[in-house]
Amino acid sequence: MTERLRPLAEPIFDELAIVGVGLIGSSVARAARAVKAARRIVIADCSEKALAGARTLGLGDELTSDLPAAVRRADCVILCAPVGANERIGHAIAPALPPGAIVSDVGSVKGAVISTLKPILPPHAHFVPAHPVAGTEQSGPEAGFASLFVNRWCILTPPEDVDSVAIAKVRHFWEALGSNVEVMSASHHDLVLAITSHVPHLIAYNIVGTAADLEEVTQSEVIKFSAGGFRDSTRLAASDPTMWRDVFLNNKDAVLEMLGRFNEDLTALQRMIRREDGDGLFALFTRTRAIRLGIIAQGQETAAPDFGRRLSDPTEPRL
Ligand code: NAP
Repeated sequence: MTERLRPLAEPIFDELAIVGVGLIGSSVARAARAVKAARRIVIADCSEKALAGARTLGLGDELTSDLPAAVRRADCVILCAPVGANERIGHAIAPALPPGAIVSDVGSVKGAVISTLKPILPPHAHFVPAHPVAGTEQSGPEAGFASLFVNRWCILTPPEDVDSVAIAKVRHFWEALGSNVEVMSASHHDLVLAITSHVPHLIAYNIVGTAADLEEVTQSEVIKFSAGGFRDSTRLAASDPTMWRDVFLNNKDAVLEMLGRFNEDLTALQRMIRREDGDGLFALFTRTRAIRLGIIAQGQETAAPDFGRRLSDPTEPRL
């Protein structure tokens, strides 16, 4: 997996500041160090526990809870906290950003992140929002790993007036971390991710919640007899509550739009079962199976029955 994590001949940034050292921030720190994407990495977090964890893991050249101090000399700042924290973080770092600094993020939602941060950031900073479409259901610095972004997509959603050199540098950064980069509008990103990520998480939260509330089946039976489909849902439903609360509150329109379509299709499925329309069910399930085969063919998933979701490649040293 890490064959795509090769040290660069020349660092892209002099000083990279990472704000929020959880799963994603710590993975960015590990990967950036592995490929020498920055001469120096400064890590900031409001959580003393996360900072202590990152310190123990040896992440970053400097660790601090002082956000303005963390960005003061940075030529690139990547916000890696839950999207609901961006307003507070933006106000804290804006006065300290040096001229020409690139500010990027990793938020799972893009439209709301742009409308929150663009008015706060100073005109002398270049704002290039990004979303690495990679992650796990775990949180915190211990959960990160350097190869998280390898062979994953990273979507950039730069507002129209952003400096093209800044966009090129952010693209170069994510490619160096092993990602494939695509640029699209924030609204299109939010619509696509609503159906590929946000609604599936909502359905998982819902199905696990429904099972937990069933009166006829005890919770111990739900755990004891959990079948593969339910177990996969519990994996998604174990995702960080803060992060996902913020995703749904900040991508409300696109999620509600996709949920509307989902409800219509679910009603059609209900009708097929009631009418014993086996041909209809078979045709749909054949179409959906082809989608999964397409995902596997593009290398975004493996065909292994455990879904191949290793936290890291066991043959590689954990970075
Ligand atoms: P995480 O593991 O929970 O880490 C977030 C870190 O940010 C925590 O240490 C948190 O501290 C800290 N933080 C919160 N508010 C802050 C503030 N005001 N100032 C400084 N630090 C602050 O979260 P994550 O899973 O890495 O997700 C981070 C971002 O990545 C989110 O925007 C999410 O949408 C995006 N993302 C996540 C995934 C995924 O699969 N997890 C995938 C792609 C993108 P506390 O614990 O004290 O709050």
